[in-house]
Amino acid sequence: MSRKPFVRRVYWNEPAMNWWERFYLFEILRGLSITGGVFTRNMWRWITGRKGALTAYYPEEIRPDYARHNRGKHILTQRPDGRPQCIACNMCATVCPARCIEIEAGLDPDDTPHPKYAKRFEIDYSRCIFCGFCVEACPEDAIRMVPETPGLPAQDRWHMWIDRDALLNWNPQRDVAKPYPPKPGKGVPT
Ligand code: SF4
Ligand code: SF4
Repeated sequence: MSRKPFVRRVYWNEPAMNWWERFYLFEILRGLSITGGVFTRNMWRWITGRKGALTAYYPEEIRPDYARHNRGKHILTQRPDGRPQCIACNMCATVCPARCIEIEAGLDPDDTPHPKYAKRFEIDYSRCIFCGFCVEACPEDAIRMVPETPGLPAQDRWHMWIDRDALLNWNPQRDVAKPYPPKPGKGVPT
């Protein structure tokens, strides 16, 4: 049986450009004036010996004023055999106030204790508000957040969807709760 192609959700408030924005030139000039204004203000503060913008050279430098429990990017945790801990229960997607988690469940009858798994698990980081509700809702400790945020910025919103394999295979430095990567084993089902 052929599967229906997946159609990504269209948000109710998907931004639409008006003719002014479509013309680009005015918006480019507006953007330049904002950037130029901030640059001039900071430069003036710096020249006059006052505190201007504080710039952190991420990732070499991390801002020292982040709260200890600051939340960053998500990780999907793995079982010792490398399979996702996620059982595709959809609780994280249900509780997510930004509605930015999409999950498609798969069935693995050979895995009797966990026959359901996340075939597709994606987070739209252009919408995520880093509230951590998904982590709190998860009954399996299958999703966590750590303060690091590598690879989140993108040139457009469609490149800010991060998929299951990227979330599973990411190896954050600051999640001390569980060793990563997992032991080699059965591998991740597709
Ligand atoms: S951190 Fe909050 S907004 Fe982001 S995916 Fe989790 S529940 Fe949704
Ligand atoms: S990450 Fe947790 S809450 Fe979300 S679908 Fe998987 S098991 Fe359920």
